[in-house]
Amino acid sequence: MRAALALFLFSTAALHGADLALTGATVYPAPAAQGIPDAVIVIHNGHIAAVGPRAVVPIPSGTRVLDCSGKFIVAGFWNSHVHIFTPVLLHARDASVGELNEQLDTMFNRCGFTTVYDIASVLANTLALRRRIESGELRGPHILTVGEPLWTEPPIYVRDYLTSNGIQIPVVTSAQDARARVKALGKDGANGVKLFTGSLQANGKVSNMPLEMVRAGVEEAHRDNLPVFAHPQNVEGLEVAIRGGVDILAHTAPDSPPWTPEFVARLRRAHMALIPTLTLFDFEARKAGASDEEREQWIDKMVSELRAFSQGGGEVLFGTDIGYTDHYDTALEFTLMSRAGMTLDQILASLTTNPARRFGFSGKCGRVEKGTDADLVVADDDPAKDVTALSKVRFTIRQGTIVYSSP
Ligand SMILES: [Zn+2]
Repeated sequence: MRAALALFLFSTAALHGADLALTGATVYPAPAAQGIPDAVIVIHNGHIAAVGPRAVVPIPSGTRVLDCSGKFIVAGFWNSHVHIFTPVLLHARDASVGELNEQLDTMFNRCGFTTVYDIASVLANTLALRRRIESGELRGPHILTVGEPLWTEPPIYVRDYLTSNGIQIPVVTSAQDARARVKALGKDGANGVKLFTGSLQANGKVSNMPLEMVRAGVEEAHRDNLPVFAHPQNVEGLEVAIRGGVDILAHTAPDSPPWTPEFVARLRRAHMALIPTLTLFDFEARKAGASDEEREQWIDKMVSELRAFSQGGGEVLFGTDIGYTDHYDTALEFTLMSRAGMTLDQILASLTTNPARRFGFSGKCGRVEKGTDADLVVADDDPAKDVTALSKVRFTIRQGTIVYSSP
């Protein structure tokens, strides 16, 4: 009995890492909260045991100390739009620890992401990756996933990739089918549902999901408390998402007229959150060989949609679509979000408190606060001076374990 207990305690400690104290940094505990200069954060069993000015927070003897003098600490970031879909990550069961860790570092750990929402992948594979991370075998973020998306036609830009990797995701044929698919995904362990309410086809055509199909999928998902994401593509895709009760727009919409205050008010009445993925449009414009001028115009349109949404009081969730794109650096996204008029507090909220609240993790993460998971980002520079400091991560800490340390 005693041996079993000792073993249990040991394994818990191994998973969470030894106790740790971060000293000397300026801590921004939450968006809009006052910064704490020369702070101490004490981490015990993967949780924050204490946080405050050095003068009032004692460091228990024997605790390992990480000197963070001159640095800046915020809560660990969420990326609410990623895909566990790269050639390496698609082999979550068989790929080596080295290969997977390298990919997880490149995509997530070095950017400060301690939680990611995968919004289209292969569910069984993504769950296998999550298990290997949660067992402590791999260094990576907490993964939430929707698994396979629902679409009336697969989008043109993923067809070749699906075929070459032997992945088949059937089309949804009716409202009843949508219901059955959502039910099965929930049973198999998905945390949410993704609907392509608009799916881009050849020659700029869009296959839109009929409203009754959207409604059926959403109703079934909400019965299981699963949030529903939509890829809208055009105005019709936006319209059925709003009327169908979707919770989160996975992108700004490339083929939509400008977003008016009235339209934003409708989105808000529908309790719709928005993931801007502005970097994606830069990536796509470059891929399509657009001129610099065309690319800027396209990005300006997306920035305008985010500006209208944010200034209208909409809830923004940070997300970049990595795993579909390979633009892993987050500086451009922060720059474009600022260009849309978002303040540091608003951007920080989109990375921390907004997704934590939206997805039911308030109290567990999203703030640097006693009792929450010790999910932290240590940055070299002050984000209050330049928001792109959030892209220059010195350490990423997940549940008290340092999962990334910049060279
Ligand atoms: Zn995506």
